[in-house]
Amino acid sequence: MSVQPAMPKSWRVDTKPHKFCPGCGHGLVLKALGQAIDELGIQDRAVFGCDIGCSLLAWDFFNVDTIQTHHGRTTPVITGLKRANPNLIGIAYMGDGGGYAIGSQHLVNAAARNEKITVILVNNTQYGMTGGQMAPTTLPGQKTETTPYGRDPEKTGYPTQGPEMVAAITREGAYVARGTVANLRQLKNYLKKALENQMAGNGFSFVEVLSTCPTNWRTNAEETWKMVEQELPKYFKVGEIKVPGGQKEGEANG
Ligand code: SF4
Repeated sequence: MSVQPAMPKSWRVDTKPHKFCPGCGHGLVLKALGQAIDELGIQDRAVFGCDIGCSLLAWDFFNVDTIQTHHGRTTPVITGLKRANPNLIGIAYMGDGGGYAIGSQHLVNAAARNEKITVILVNNTQYGMTGGQMAPTTLPGQKTETTPYGRDPEKTGYPTQGPEMVAAITREGAYVARGTVANLRQLKNYLKKALENQMAGNGFSFVEVLSTCPTNWRTNAEETWKMVEQELPKYFKVGEIKVPGGQKEGEANG
């Protein structure tokens, strides 16, 4: 008798095998998200939007309404759907390129407006699908296709601190956290809280997830896990991030 691994009920079971590389963290994030959707009982209300980049490979994971968007535009597409039908639970899924580079203006403005959607951003410190170029989140000294001698932060900047930025510009009622695929129970908890925040109509919710890309990091299994468990948290603090309560709806935004 074969034993099937437990899959979230909100996942599709009829699709072809997924296309993520062995050791990729995306599958772990999507499993935690699927479990969160199951436990909250929102499969019929959820709308899942995914960006270009490796995150687009998530387009056929969920048995929920799904839309795949232009690069960097997942946040405004989900914002539009949510505004048209506030009963939906809008989930925007993207990588660090889609959220912090080409789509950064949308992330900033959705956070500033406190849009009642949930953004999940997978941070694996480089552009995975296009071959591993430097991203806004690349670590100082990290070698990528475009920083073959290691990223020099004096010339190219320090890693973007996305959740801290979002927490600083959004409004009271928002929920912001940074999780990691190295702690799936905690990650599922953060994702549930983000979705519950949207269900309660409180405001914007944002979860960055530290994740793995062994293909472009060129790491074996042990090195991959050491990178995500030990190296990334030196620059990216895992945990929930307090949203300053000074600004309230209706006040001037800065
Ligand atoms: Fe995952 Fe990296 Fe492969 Fe993309 S290139 S599927 S992020 S391991």
